[in-house]
Amino acid sequence: MEQQVQGGERVRVLVVAAHPDDPEFACGGTSARWAAEGREIYYLLCTRGHKGSSDPDMTVERLIRIREQEQRAAAEVIGAREVTFLDFVDGELAPTLELREAIVREIRRVRPQIVMTHDPTVVYTATHINHPDHRAVGTATLDAIYPTARDRLNFPDHERNGLLPHKVKEVYLWGSSSPTEWIDISSSIDRKIAALRCHASQVGNGEQLEERVRQRAKQAGEPRGIPYAETFFRIEMAR
Ligand SMILES: [Zn+2]
Repeated sequence: MEQQVQGGERVRVLVVAAHPDDPEFACGGTSARWAAEGREIYYLLCTRGHKGSSDPDMTVERLIRIREQEQRAAAEVIGAREVTFLDFVDGELAPTLELREAIVREIRRVRPQIVMTHDPTVVYTATHINHPDHRAVGTATLDAIYPTARDRLNFPDHERNGLLPHKVKEVYLWGSSSPTEWIDISSSIDRKIAALRCHASQVGNGEQLEERVRQRAKQAGEPRGIPYAETFFRIEMAR
């Protein structure tokens, strides 16, 4: 576990996602594996996912409560240390300065060596359009990492409140069409599936869930001969 401690400190990982369940689908296996290996995982959810229902009797207030509880339960299964929610509106995220500042604040508070988030360059694939909230969060997070969180004169009131500038060392982007990293999640895929089951309002009783998740992880690992993998585009910050 040589890489779990840097400079006498445990490695901290901040996962920045648009909606509840995004962290588990995208990087639940990696987060669970890293948590088991001694890394500290922090979640930042930019919305409470309150548009994610087709039930005609569902209200926004109820759905906010349900999805927040589901996300907290899933994070516990993953072994994450903390879950923080921002109050942006589901379906209406844009890479505004307001969103960027909220993410900078969290980067300066948690001081992660590693940040994981949505790849904002993916607008569509042959079968899907990438949700605009995902693109917005990916863009705002990259902008927050560089240069905003790093340079002390950006949002200078942070410093007065004890939030010092911070340099992130590595960024892992999920959903990338040209990944550079394959993380072996064979040891944590069961935990990923168990965490996804916590999102009952989204995955129902999860009948085909296990099959679907295993299939995707198997496909992702194939090019590298890994039984089950999650893939990322990794940026190692040169300065
Ligand atoms: Zn999402």
